[in-house]
Amino acid sequence: MNDLLPGDIETWQHVEKLARDMFGRFGYGEIRTPMVEDTALFVRSVGEETDIVGKEMYTFEDKGGRSLSLRPEGTAPSARAYIEHSILNQEPVTRWFYIGPMFRYERMKTGRYRQFFQIGAEAYGAKEPAQDAEIMDMVAQFLSALGLKDVTLNLNSLGDEACRPAYHAKLVEYLQAHRAEVCAECQARMDRNPLRVLDCKNEKCQAIAAAGPNVLDFLCEPCRAHFGDLQRKLTALGIPFVVNSRLVRGLDYYTRTVFEFVAAHPALGTASTVGGGGRYDTMMKGLGGPDVPAVGFAMGLDRLVLLLKETGQAFGAPVDLFVAVADEGSHDAGLALASRLRREGLHVAFDTRGGSLKSQMKRADKTGARFTLVLGEAERSSGKANLKPMAGGDPIPVALDAVAQALRALPSAS
Ligand code: AMP
Repeated sequence: MNDLLPGDIETWQHVEKLARDMFGRFGYGEIRTPMVEDTALFVRSVGEETDIVGKEMYTFEDKGGRSLSLRPEGTAPSARAYIEHSILNQEPVTRWFYIGPMFRYERMKTGRYRQFFQIGAEAYGAKEPAQDAEIMDMVAQFLSALGLKDVTLNLNSLGDEACRPAYHAKLVEYLQAHRAEVCAECQARMDRNPLRVLDCKNEKCQAIAAAGPNVLDFLCEPCRAHFGDLQRKLTALGIPFVVNSRLVRGLDYYTRTVFEFVAAHPALGTASTVGGGGRYDTMMKGLGGPDVPAVGFAMGLDRLVLLLKETGQAFGAPVDLFVAVADEGSHDAGLALASRLRREGLHVAFDTRGGSLKSQMKRADKTGARFTLVLGEAERSSGKANLKPMAGGDPIPVALDAVAQALRALPSAS
């Protein structure tokens, strides 16, 4: 679990702001659900046999003897809220997004934490491939607005309750025949959750999985049509994708479409999947709610920030102006000027300790201020001062009672 401190937090805030803006454009409203839920919610939706529920949940008993869990993901809590607030009675199609911490007791690796943040979205009420395409378009536009390039969309269909059982049976039969050749973990997966063998990172397991039955060969006609139509829509929207029939994702609730956005960035190692999701048309009913189809995704905020840093796009705190004082007698006037400019909306830094002008200028450098204004006796009596651009360049004369206007007239001041 990480502490997020100033210096890093600005990049986090930038990503969150962009997400809120982009998801708003697509009509998604923000929801905030509690960080703890009944353990049963995750067992019934994510699935008892998944790694997340089977091994990674922080589960505890509260004083009332109830089994609660820190949420390991956001889709089940959103579905719970959708059911609890009878949203279907209010509107046929609902679009929600969330940003917040998730908790999984995972093994430590680069880009993998036990408290991590996800940005996710869910669209309820539309079973059509257009909804899948729209949500992928939203992720693609978001990643591109962040300036992330080299991100590939992987796509697959897992079929539905009509065609999946036949595939499942064939896969188990095939894997049993190769039991001795796969890793120990896959031997256990084979019995509990055979689909997971398909995304094992072990090369030998990958080769065996690749030579096994292909889920796409088993799709029934409606699932095949849905998947075909989705691909046509993505092409029409100009969103490149790769069909990857081994993509299954680790949760039990997916039907038909699954997808992942994968970054080609070596620094992330195995953590290069920035986000993924899929369709889950039966989950809501399984939780005792209405029969409502849904599609959603979640992205790892921690990984997006890592990627932005890797590609040199981290953000610093914005400081418009550093107010320095030339002499002790100007310190109160400096404090008052900084106060007034802050009231006028500027980000202003001021050294409350006073000290020599040289040490204040050092502070100004450290804060990353765009301009410094030195206030001394001469400036106070004339009512005029200079804005010194910290990146170099000529000083800009200003009247002390018009500093905010002058700074705003310069490019990119707040
Ligand atoms: P999942 O809910 O497992 O499909 O994960 C969706 C996204 O959340 C992943 O692609 C990651 O970007 C992120 N994520 C999942 N688990 C972790 C973790 N333990 N630490 C950091 N990010 C994670």
